[in-house]
This record gives sequence, structure tokens and C-alpha cells, in this order.
Amino acid sequence: MVTAIIGGSFGDEGKGKMTDLLAAKADIVVRFQGGANAGHTVINDYGKFVLHILPSGVFYRHTENIIASSAAFDSDEFFRELQILKDNGVPAPAIKISSRAQLLLPIHKMQDTLEEQRLGKNSFGSTESGIAPFYSDKYAKRNFQISELFSDDLSDKLKRFCNDKNKFFGAFYGIQNPLSERDLKEYLTEVKDKLAPYIFDCPHYLNSAVKSGKNILLEGQLGALRDVDNGIYPFVTSSSPLAGFGSVSTGIPPYEIRSVIAIIKAYSTCVGAGAFVGELSGSVAEELRKRGGDSGEYGAKTGRPRRMAWFDCVSARYGCMLQGATEAVLTMLDVLGYLDKIPVCVGYKINGEVTEEFPETYLLDNAEPVYEYLNGWKCDISGIKDFSELPEEARAYVEFIENKIAVPITMISNGPKRSQIIYRKSACI
Ligand code: GDP
Repeated sequence: MVTAIIGGSFGDEGKGKMTDLLAAKADIVVRFQGGANAGHTVINDYGKFVLHILPSGVFYRHTENIIASSAAFDSDEFFRELQILKDNGVPAPAIKISSRAQLLLPIHKMQDTLEEQRLGKNSFGSTESGIAPFYSDKYAKRNFQISELFSDDLSDKLKRFCNDKNKFFGAFYGIQNPLSERDLKEYLTEVKDKLAPYIFDCPHYLNSAVKSGKNILLEGQLGALRDVDNGIYPFVTSSSPLAGFGSVSTGIPPYEIRSVIAIIKAYSTCVGAGAFVGELSGSVAEELRKRGGDSGEYGAKTGRPRRMAWFDCVSARYGCMLQGATEAVLTMLDVLGYLDKIPVCVGYKINGEVTEEFPETYLLDNAEPVYEYLNGWKCDISGIKDFSELPEEARAYVEFIENKIAVPITMISNGPKRSQIIYRKSACI
């Protein structure tokens, strides 16, 4: 059985906690996309961890953790995170890295930072983890697949990579020759030796695992609205956070992904630039931001305050549709317990017309949110385990959203801890 757990909105929906929870039943957890640019927060008996590149199954002894072929593999970050686990007493996890994954290099991070500086007020709000330069080099076919490090002669590739990058850095940033073939060769040789014990043939291995009935969890990063094609381009990531991309990255047939669990949260947040319909400001935003998550809505990677809005049915329904969600998890419901009335965005008014369909990016700048106001429950629901024990208003809130996004909400997260979860009718647990 292959299940994908992915973000239904703009990211930061609480995927880390839910993946950690679902990983308890998984034989294999696969990180299929992106790099060390986002952070999944996991709180468990070992402490609080923010995983940027490691799959969320690393806390379980029975789980194999895989970084699949389409990930932007940052070797330095990978070993840094492994060390953090070790320092906190987490037993060494079983990890495999696809030989077809490509290396995100220090020069990609440097380029990301310089490019954001160059763009100035038009910057994308990148986490400066090197993702866009990495994927640019990958699709220009000049970057390094891990398997290539094991080939006999890399010299032509090294020469082209260094020439191209040096020319680019000189022309764009006025930095002359930041890369030397010798230094890069040395770095890659070191990486190759360190990675050798982890490397495996991802597509064959995972196809066998599917055939033998293993329980496989594909773990997404970011959210549907950041998809490079279907999201709010150009304010998107440089790959696809959609469940379907899990098939591309792993080599598993698309029809094997039977269950797609979209994570959405009870209000909306967004990091980085781009239109964000219904963005709150002032004390209303600050109050929600302060109460959100386990310690406020601040970027897991950057610490930046997240942009805040009420739940947005328009973007969430679109996000769930793109993901092909078979069910949804509503997280952070506990956060809204302070409100008398809870606004929910049910439509966008664009040039005088109200639509419930998420439009192309250029129309978002003129979109105004249309709200319905639901009753708040005004109490702490974080200890509740059973849906029927939730206050009537909280149940009505869940059912309202479920109806609007047209996907069954099978689980409700009402706190950051593993135990703070309400099951309704999930096919997966
Ligand atoms: P991810 O990237 O989707 O994993 O999201 P984050 O790492 O930004 O996680 C969101 C934050 O909310 C983390 O600090 C989690 O510990 C916390 N969190 C997850 N689920 C809940 C929940 O249901 N309620 C509250 N209050 N916090 C939660």
C-alpha cells in the first residue's frame, strides 16, 4: 500500500507531526521532493526536532527512510541533521539515498543568496537553501547525479560546471572564479566516500517493495500552491510538491499511490512573496500568529514571521484537487479556541465577480476575500480525543470546511503532540 502525505495549501500545515504519526505504521518513509528549504517540526519523546532533509520516519526503529531521486540532496545538511539526532539520543536510523538523486552544492546556496540580493525588493523571499539554482542546473543538465561520482572520469563534467558557473557569477554578481575544478573535485570525492554506505537503486528497490506489499509513505514538502506549474508561479518552489510527483521521484507506478492524505490547517499562513488573498494585518494577524503552531507561526527554517489569513476554502479546495486528495487532515483546530466568530473565506471577488475557483496568479492581486462567519467555541479543545466530544461549534467548523473542500476530513489535530489527534473515519489508520 502506498500512501502520500502532502500539503493541501501553501505549506507549514503541520505535515511533520502527521507524517511522524503515520510513520508508526509504515515500513518505508520516502522524502520525494525539494531540499533542505522547508522544515518539518516533529515533537516526540526524544525532544523537538525540525527536519529539513531527513524523512520523518527517522525516529522509528522499524522504519526505513529513503531520499528519492527528485530530491535536492544537500549532503552537508544531511550529515548535520544526522548529528543532531545522535546528539539527542535518537538511535541511528536506517537511511537510503537514491543514486539518482542530484547533489545540491555550496555554490547553489551562495547563488541563491546573491540572487535574492540582486533582486532586491523584487526578491522571492527564498530560504536561500540553493533550491532554484540547483533545479536550474539540473534541468540544464550540468549538475551532478550522485551516481556520476562513481564514474571513472568526471573531468569533462567538472570543467563544464566550473566554466559555466564562473562565467555566470562574473557576469551577474561581479564575482570572479568562485569555483575551481580542483576544489570541487576534492569536495565531490569527500561526499562520494561519505555517501557510499547510503546509496541504493531507488526505482528497482521501491518497485520490489510495492510488489511485496510493504507499507510505503511518500512524504511531501511545502504545499500544493507552491507547485511550479499549478501553483502561484513565479512565487513557487522549483519542483512539484504534488502527490503525483512522488511517482516520478520514486519510479513507483502512479496507480500504486492509492491513498493521498492532504494536510490543511484551520487557518492559513504563507511565507515568502506573492499574492495572499485575505492577508491579515495589525493586531488580528499578530494574535493569530502568536497563538499558532506550538510556539507561534514563525518559519521553521528562517524564523521569519509567517503571513496570516483565515481559512481559505478557495485555495484549499484547489490544493486538494491538485493533490488528488482522497482524505484530509485538519490541523491546529485548537488554535482557534479564542474567537467569538471565525471568518472563513468562501470566495474571491475579482473585478466585481465572485468565484469559488482559484484563478491564475495575475488575477490574485485584484482578488478580495468573501467571508462567512462561523460561531467560535471559546474553550480549550486540546485534550479531546473523540469527535463527538468536541463543542458543537467546532464540529460545525470541521463539517463546513469538509463540505467546501469536497474531501472527507478523517483526522483532526488538536495540539502539537502525537497523542493530540481525533480520528473520524480514516482509511489509513
Ligand atoms: P510542516 O512543514 O507542514 O510540518 O509544518 P511546521 O513544521 O511548520 O509545523 C507546524 C507547527 O505546528 C509545528 O510547530 C508543530 O509542532 C505544530 N503543530 C502541528 N500540529 C498542531 C496542532 O494541531 N495544533 C497546534 N497547536 N500545533 C500543531
